Amino acid sequence: MVNKDRLANTFKFLTQIDSVSGEERAISGEIKKILDSMGAETYIDDAGDKIGGNTGNLIAKFKGTRQAPPLLLNAHMDTVEPGKGVTAVFSDGVFTSDGTTILGADDKSAIAILVETLKIIQENELPHGPLELVFTVCEEIGLLGAKHLDLDRITATFGYALDATDTEGIVTRAPCANRFEFRVHGKDAHAGAAPEKGINAISLASKAIANLELGRIDSETTCNIGIIQGGTATNIVPCLVTIKGEVRSHDEEKMNKVTRTMVSSFKEIVENYKGVASDNARPRLEIEIQKDFPRTYIPDDHPVVTLACRAAQNLGRKMKTKISGGGADANVFFEKGIMTGVLGTGMRDMHTVRESVRLEDMVRTTELLLEIIRVHAEAEGQGAARHTDGG
Ligand SMILES: [Zn+2]
Repeated sequence: MVNKDRLANTFKFLTQIDSVSGEERAISGEIKKILDSMGAETYIDDAGDKIGGNTGNLIAKFKGTRQAPPLLLNAHMDTVEPGKGVTAVFSDGVFTSDGTTILGADDKSAIAILVETLKIIQENELPHGPLELVFTVCEEIGLLGAKHLDLDRITATFGYALDATDTEGIVTRAPCANRFEFRVHGKDAHAGAAPEKGINAISLASKAIANLELGRIDSETTCNIGIIQGGTATNIVPCLVTIKGEVRSHDEEKMNKVTRTMVSSFKEIVENYKGVASDNARPRLEIEIQKDFPRTYIPDDHPVVTLACRAAQNLGRKMKTKISGGGADANVFFEKGIMTGVLGTGMRDMHTVRESVRLEDMVRTTELLLEIIRVHAEAEGQGAARHTDGG
């Protein structure tokens, strides 16, 4: 039933529209045009103003032809860099870029699949419940679109994001994360003439870092220091060093514990500084901890999981629940009370110039989504019918 050429063309068309984070207006306009022409009720929220982007999240609603709880369907419109001037190359059934940019299958494969799914539903007049499509901005730079989504426009309490690789998997668990920044302030001095008048911020920070456990803390917790910046010249005692990193865990308490350990390690080194600099200067510490994203934990018996499993089974396929190590819009939706499972589109090597996606995988996910929508409408339709019959 899937029109492979049309799906391929839609995908190729979308990849050619630049849409790096914060600059999604052009692609949003094209998606809106397509959905408007199909009779959707579309709306752009004000997330763009709040986060400094050139447009907001695009919300598109299709009324159901069956009574059913509304289903959320989500993809993000932005891409990482290098993502401008993408030329999609199609060879042996696989899309890649020309090697100089990313492809943008993350997440344009999802957008193409959603458009194709809706076209098939309309041309075949397939029964469906109410569908609420949410195309977010700025997913790649901290899930900002999802975090500022106008929730008043959304009534769905569960649904699917298409933003993973495995076409036979649904991500139901994902960690939460804290992002941290420590700024250790010392005191500058001439490193050759009067080092004792200074406080070496790099030296202090390195002692604090040396006391920390980094990498994999346990099976569900990780910690990383990813950026360190400081100093101005080899002959100056550095007065400032900035350390940035993150803690992730599937268990919020564990994440908080690791975060507290880091804070106390830095505090201890700075507060216990023994040297005497000029003017009795003391080192100082600034700490910024930001909640990066909340965790996701969808039980296996939740309808979002059972529906996907049943749809896959009807197609003679497998469907496994999966644990993700990263954050996605789905984490934010989960926190807002919308149970969102993440489905795969076949995209691979995301965020690299080797990114690719097989057309056949996009076809498979379109088929899966059609079956999910069919089963969802059918089950609820029968329920509604029974209710009327019993009248
Ligand atoms: Zn993505």
